[in-house]
Amino acid sequence: MSAPRPQFKAQAGRALRDAQLQHALTHIRSGFVENRRKALEVLPEFEVLRRAGKAIKDHTLANLDLYLERFEREVQASGGQVHWAGDAAEAREIVLRLCAEAGARTVTKGKSMIGEEIAINAALEAAGIEPVETDLGEYIIQLAGETPSHIIAPALHKTRAQIVALFRKHHAQYGLSQALESVPEIVDEARQVLRDRYFQADVGITGANFLIAETGSAVVVTNEGNGDLTATLPKTHIVLASLEKVVPTREDVNVLLRLLARSATGQAFTAYTSFFTGPRRTDDLDGPDRFHVVLVDNGRSVIAGDSDFHEVLRCIRCGACMNHCPVYNAIGGHAYGWVYPGPIGAVLTPLLIGEEQAADLPNASTLCGRCEAVCPMSIPLPGLLRKHRERQYAERIVPPRQRLALRAWAWLAQRPAFYHLSTRAGMRLLRLLARRHGRFHRLPLAGGWTANRDLPAPQGETFLAAWKRGERP
Ligand code: SF4
Repeated sequence: MSAPRPQFKAQAGRALRDAQLQHALTHIRSGFVENRRKALEVLPEFEVLRRAGKAIKDHTLANLDLYLERFEREVQASGGQVHWAGDAAEAREIVLRLCAEAGARTVTKGKSMIGEEIAINAALEAAGIEPVETDLGEYIIQLAGETPSHIIAPALHKTRAQIVALFRKHHAQYGLSQALESVPEIVDEARQVLRDRYFQADVGITGANFLIAETGSAVVVTNEGNGDLTATLPKTHIVLASLEKVVPTREDVNVLLRLLARSATGQAFTAYTSFFTGPRRTDDLDGPDRFHVVLVDNGRSVIAGDSDFHEVLRCIRCGACMNHCPVYNAIGGHAYGWVYPGPIGAVLTPLLIGEEQAADLPNASTLCGRCEAVCPMSIPLPGLLRKHRERQYAERIVPPRQRLALRAWAWLAQRPAFYHLSTRAGMRLLRLLARRHGRFHRLPLAGGWTANRDLPAPQGETFLAAWKRGERP
């Protein structure tokens, strides 16, 4: 599969210098982080739910083939069809074939990360089919010609002024030119434009938050109701989902939905939670005539069989890890260079596009552990980042200078007495050298640090000496 090689360092540098992006990123703390904290405060059983959610996913992943087969049988029994796609190219081919069979010229789309992963919009456009994003955030970035920067808030990086400017540029063709002051006015104008597009669409493509094996249903959660209109108004509904979205029963989905909403937005439940099962039945008031599910592997079965990384498939795409990540908070999602940003992206991207291709991502972390602490599926993200680093070292992806430094460090760390002696000596030397200013503006081998900030000279004694004396922070 060909994916762009993320230029993480250059993109992170640009993000840090982008004043508008920095302003937009400040909303994460007051919004998602604060709302999640409040939601958990009033839910004492969160930890119990979390353990139950993890157990459900672990059990499903251990029996993935059985549940996927059951899911396929139930979809067929309800009149739908399942299509298996080994990789992104095959998934695109299947979707294009289904669109051609439906004679589609316009396709409405609900938000779907797997759609981003297989670059379905570009494929549809190349085939002369117009994809229309219906999630407000996705619609905004479609107008801007950009990719999502967050998995649940794709246009998080855009300021209100930028969105209004985009609407003025693209909505003049619909006779819309009024000044937009507030968020409700922006939402209202997007609705006016999208209303007609829903009725023009021949095919609706949605993702799925979960697939239920026992009923053959696809579960879609949104806060705008756009998923329901996308799924029910066109004559053909295509669900695009990756293999690990399947769960055994409706009860299992209830547990996961409670975890998802609270971790993602701090809501007790998402505003719209819809279960789509097969095409329209004779006594249904609405619904599509054809119901297709495209099950995309694209590397998942390899990950499922990888004892080092299979836990990453428990992810329910809530975004909590990125909201709480100091690195994501500093640089936003685009710096990660591919579909999945933040800690989950740093673990998943090298698995999907190649360790060497995404080598910077697992190294862009201090391993502070916040992501694991907030992950509703208890995915050990810092541990997985460390495993990537070990793999990079073993596969000689780590540059020679860094390998040498790591070897020297390992040699030192295995000799505690010598380690203490040398850190004490090093500290004294640094203190002496920095005597006049108390800090370094430049330091050999630490150019990456001193390029953007001074390095304060060490004060007092080493951490280990203080620890030995019984001082605890
Ligand atoms: S890794 Fe955990 S916190 Fe991050 S998106 Fe997935 S489920 Fe949410």
